[in-house]
Amino acid sequence: MKEYKAEFLRKAAGVAFDQEHRRRINHNIRQYDKAVVKGKERLENIQQLRQKAYSTKFKALHLLDQYLVEFEANFQRKGGKVIWACTAEDALKEIIGLLEKERIEMVVKSKSMTTEEIHLNEFLEKKKIAVHETDLGEFIVQIAGEKPYHIVTPAMHKSKEDVGALYHEKFGLDANSTPEEITAFTRTHLREKFKMAGAGITGANFIVADTGSVAITENEGNALLSMTSPRLHIVIAGLEKVIPSVDDLDLFWPLLATYGTGQNMTVYNSLVSAPAAEGQGPQQMVVILLDNGRTELLSKSRMRMALGCIRCGACLNTCPVYKNIGGYTYNITYTGPIGAVISPHTGNFERNIHLSFASSLCGACTQVCPVNIPLHHMLLLNRQEAVSKKIVPKNERFQLKNASSILLNRNRLDMVGGGFKNKVLRYFVEKQWGDRRVLPQFAPKSFSRMWQEQNQQEVK
Ligand code: SF4
Repeated sequence: MKEYKAEFLRKAAGVAFDQEHRRRINHNIRQYDKAVVKGKERLENIQQLRQKAYSTKFKALHLLDQYLVEFEANFQRKGGKVIWACTAEDALKEIIGLLEKERIEMVVKSKSMTTEEIHLNEFLEKKKIAVHETDLGEFIVQIAGEKPYHIVTPAMHKSKEDVGALYHEKFGLDANSTPEEITAFTRTHLREKFKMAGAGITGANFIVADTGSVAITENEGNALLSMTSPRLHIVIAGLEKVIPSVDDLDLFWPLLATYGTGQNMTVYNSLVSAPAAEGQGPQQMVVILLDNGRTELLSKSRMRMALGCIRCGACLNTCPVYKNIGGYTYNITYTGPIGAVISPHTGNFERNIHLSFASSLCGACTQVCPVNIPLHHMLLLNRQEAVSKKIVPKNERFQLKNASSILLNRNRLDMVGGGFKNKVLRYFVEKQWGDRRVLPQFAPKSFSRMWQEQNQQEVK
């Protein structure tokens, strides 16, 4: 698994010093910051709302088994179908089964990180099923042959000039087309796909237990079209998306909008509870509830609240590491602080654990999270688990053990002068310290030694 860490370090070193990349990301995040500051001003008692969000998610996760079964019963009573999928492979098998049974060769999709997690597009394309992303940002990254860069704004890394050039190359549009022209073209292009597709695949922002509904939030109306035009609507949602009651949306919808984009409310908020009556929409609606490592996280009581994430993206936007190394360096579906916290548990621990070490532990992520998830504490817990599993390299463990036996003992620390300490530092630490930072220097004498000497002179 060392190769993943090496690849991460190599990419991070490249991207962090790419001035153009930094300019774009910082520009886009600055726009976000301005909107969020204004959005937060519209919320009263924001700390109380965050605490309530934490308690609601805490309750939902502690009683997850009950709420999921309640959702299933309520949803199926109205004609929907629920499928439980343990792994990504199970979910893919179920989806292809549904599509093949209905002889569907084209699907439209609205933005969903859960479908990214199971690599749905690649899978369907291999099965010769055409997949059309319908969220503008997702559409842009899809035609560019890329993955989403950010969990909320998938094309955040592209400038309008980049997008103009891309549309010129793919569709022959004028390379200097304005964002309005590009949007109008995309709308017309996708309208045909909505009409032709046999199935619409969406994610879910929340799964509501007491009404048996799926809550979907979006700004473009493409999710609404994806779930109402085709004859089959498939929802793929992580188990953790469940909330106890429809009343909880009073809290979560404004929180998600404010922290996600700075809006008061997202433009379209849909609650879907059943397939449509004949002739008025999808004849079948299927919800696939995906585990894929979530119950592993649930079983760790100190990490469980990471499943309370509502995917607003705020922790990514504030993280100094994310802002410097960007979304692609992580090489995982969920990036930034929340990705570093959950990916070792929902994916392969050894493969992804280095991400928990790529943090300054400044706590900015915890400060901005609308659900009060203690993200930086969880990064430390991940590190602790890595140490107890002996995943930290041997030489690092050896160095830290020796260093702590000296650093925690004043007499040992003062046994040698600054010159010798600097030599030790150069020999053992310089390489890890990196060649872009200046190694700190020990003074010739420690403060405690100087203090002792001065006091001895005064006594004489
Ligand atoms: S962890 Fe918190 S801040 Fe980060 S995406 Fe999830 S809800 Fe938003």
